Amino acid sequence: MLRIAIPNKGRLSESALELFELAGLKPEFRADRALVARLGSDFQAIFVRAQDIPEFVADGAAAFGITGRDLVAEAAREEVEELLDLGFGRCRLIVAVREDSPVRDPSAIPPGTRVATSFPGLARRHFQALGIPIQVVPVSGAAEIAPHLGVADVIVDLVSTGSTLRVNGLREVGTIVDSTALLIGNRSALSEEGALRAREELVTAVESVIRARKKRYLMANVPRARLEEVRNVLPGISGPTIVDVLDRETWVAAHAVVDADQVYQTIARLKQLGAEGILVTRIERLMP
Ligand code: AMP
Repeated sequence: MLRIAIPNKGRLSESALELFELAGLKPEFRADRALVARLGSDFQAIFVRAQDIPEFVADGAAAFGITGRDLVAEAAREEVEELLDLGFGRCRLIVAVREDSPVRDPSAIPPGTRVATSFPGLARRHFQALGIPIQVVPVSGAAEIAPHLGVADVIVDLVSTGSTLRVNGLREVGTIVDSTALLIGNRSALSEEGALRAREELVTAVESVIRARKKRYLMANVPRARLEEVRNVLPGISGPTIVDVLDRETWVAAHAVVDADQVYQTIARLKQLGAEGILVTRIERLMP
């Protein structure tokens, strides 16, 4: 049994569980509020805080984990390997100053500045790389308030839209990490053969869900006479699938996988070719 560490609460937890369910790995809990569950026949899920997951994976307590790229970067553990970018949980770790500050760029921050953050490692390394010695003020949340309390001049914090910063009278001056949720693994735990096979299976299953999210399955009835043009509009994975429509000699049904962000355009072009009965559905998993 290989262990997978999954966030037990917070912003990544729901999406992580949904991902495993779609991948065909639904956790089976023995009891309510259990922190351990079976995940298919090869894996065991443990539910822990997103912050702790990079350490657990690095120490081999779990072979795999799902957590934010920001937290993986903060932990900076050699043993942790990125296996897949999962695309959800998008946010940025940024440097922000008070609105009235003259600073426009992190490199203009004066030496000795106090920086409030729950990412002391990343903050320190970022300013070290810029050659600016700083004083880290560690906080575990609500860093935005620190400049107003006079305990710090600058913050290094996570944002997604940036509206919390503005509401709190702060201005972003630079990005340290662009973050999304990652599937990570322990390098050495995954080097022996049985574990390698399990890793392959896990990555394939999860990847099939991620890939499917960016695609749609499109079906349309099209005039047989326009098939050559339909082929150009619906390239699909290996060309569209063409199916006869009963009792309609001059019509066929065309099915294809299309990019989700191209669906609107594709429908318009199919309509120009006289298509009818257009149907678009989501795809659960896609393995090309
Ligand atoms: P949690 O503290 O358990 O809610 O998890 C925080 C993690 O969720 C962060 O480390 C990020 O990887 C991720 N995340 C995604 N969007 C945001 C956001 N807008 N603010 C903070 N964290 C976010």
